[in-house]
Amino acid sequence: MSAQIIDGKQLALAIRTTLAQDMASLTEHTGIRPGLAVVLVGEDPASVVYVRNKKKACDAAGLYVEDCALPASTSQADLLSLINELNENPKIHGILVQLPLPLHIESQVILNAVSPEKDADGFHPYNIGRLVEGNPLFVPCTPKGVIRMIESTGQKLSGKRAVVLGRSNIVGKPVAMLLLHQHATVTMCHSRTKDLPALCREADVIVAAIGKAKFVTGGMVKEGAIVIDVGINRLDDGRLVGDVDFDQVCERAGWITPVPGGVGPMTIAMLLTNTVEAAKRVASCSA
Ligand code: NAP
Repeated sequence: MSAQIIDGKQLALAIRTTLAQDMASLTEHTGIRPGLAVVLVGEDPASVVYVRNKKKACDAAGLYVEDCALPASTSQADLLSLINELNENPKIHGILVQLPLPLHIESQVILNAVSPEKDADGFHPYNIGRLVEGNPLFVPCTPKGVIRMIESTGQKLSGKRAVVLGRSNIVGKPVAMLLLHQHATVTMCHSRTKDLPALCREADVIVAAIGKAKFVTGGMVKEGAIVIDVGINRLDDGRLVGDVDFDQVCERAGWITPVPGGVGPMTIAMLLTNTVEAAKRVASCSA
């Protein structure tokens, strides 16, 4: 069989179009324009590209964007005072701190300083706790996008066997939690997992987030499975590929996401969604 492609670009465009309408109505009725602060410290080339794409998407959808680009030499204390200012700024409803931060800055200290009500990335311990509880305020963007992509297949997750490859705090763990909340039976795999291919072969859903080019091969995938590829890997020839061997897995899976054009655009769409949802919460509190 040849898998159906879950087109992240198309899905993200549809979400951003609906968001733009939502925002126009929010602004008309409340005077509130959703605002996102994008904090970038240093000039890590991949981060510069990610931030540029995020800002472009915000501009296109009509969000207010506060561009906070700081030199790599910025001290932790200065970054903390910027975060505190943004926490207090009523024009800002979401704060994104682009990771990784320079090594002299403790990322967790910075993420903990972001107000949980403006934590558009959903990385604050308060928001992680609420996610685990099944009562999330902000859901991390990539995991939220992964679930929206699975939902777009029309397949119900209840009772399905799901395997998540990778256990990072930003992708693997929250994805596993969201799948669990949708009543899937979830197995998390990592670098110490024994006989990982056999576990994958039993899965109705595979989410790959390990950062190893073409790691998931055709022989690891059950016929008809949903395969979501979060990985972004650059090959020596400059091409971007995922953690899934797309050509091989296409022959076995029922649905598959491409790289590029899959999870990446959905992550950005979810960042916008989280910011607009935060602005709506502010509007409903002040109504
Ligand atoms: P990460 O922090 O890089 O951690 C990698 C995870 O993969 C770890 O849990 C590690 O296991 C596991 N792993 C590594 N090698 C493995 C192997 N051979 N077998 C099984 N598990 C293995 O993860 P991340 O930050 O979530 O990033 C993962 C990938 O997703 C990267 O390519 C990243 O660029 C991409 N990404 C994409 C987006 C997007 O928007 N598309 C967003 C975020 C990340 P241990 O814990 O045992 O070390």
